[in-house]
Amino acid sequence: MTKGKVIVVSAPSGCGKSTIINSIFDSKRFDLHFSVSATNRPPRAGEVDGEDYHFLSTEEFQRLVAEDQFIEWEEVYPERYYGTLRAEVDRQIEQGHNVVLDIDVKGALNVKRFYGSDSCCIFIQPPSIDELRHRLENRGTETDDSIATRIDRAQYELSFAEKFDHIVVNDDLNVAITQVAELFANFIEK
Ligand code: 5GP
Repeated sequence: MTKGKVIVVSAPSGCGKSTIINSIFDSKRFDLHFSVSATNRPPRAGEVDGEDYHFLSTEEFQRLVAEDQFIEWEEVYPERYYGTLRAEVDRQIEQGHNVVLDIDVKGALNVKRFYGSDSCCIFIQPPSIDELRHRLENRGTETDDSIATRIDRAQYELSFAEKFDHIVVNDDLNVAITQVAELFANFIEK
């Protein structure tokens, strides 16, 4: 059986990444599976353990790090750890499924180092930092502090964009969805 491929999508928070990925999943155009990451951050309202993330205590997370169970892990926000589980990704690609990882920039580039040309890294960029701030404010789920942290983080993440295989600017959501879907198609079907 042909092995599946790994597609990584990274974007600063508020760039429409989840909307874009979900829309491509919903189109059922490709055989795509999500890799569920592990994190020590608490679940948000509506998030389900094992579906959105494997929600772990800090001690459980550190045990998995010590056991080398992650392909990559990062402290994305202070004391908030996120990691891609080796078993989760390998099981799916061995079964021939294409796996989508929604992870931060450094994690994405580490996955690229690990899977090489069997992986494709896509960066979704906001039209500008001002526009991103505006979107985060309108989302209504973040406090002022959290918005400030996310804007700082976005500026940092933007400095990695050039290292990705592809950059898509999300100015118009439908255009961005089409562009990302085409990148998926070119990579999966090549
Ligand atoms: P959130 O807390 O909003 O769900 O996610 C925060 C950030 O963590 C997002 O940028 C997301 O892409 C990133 N992230 C989620 N899972 C992983 C992972 O397994 N590894 C890494 N490096 N980053 C992740």
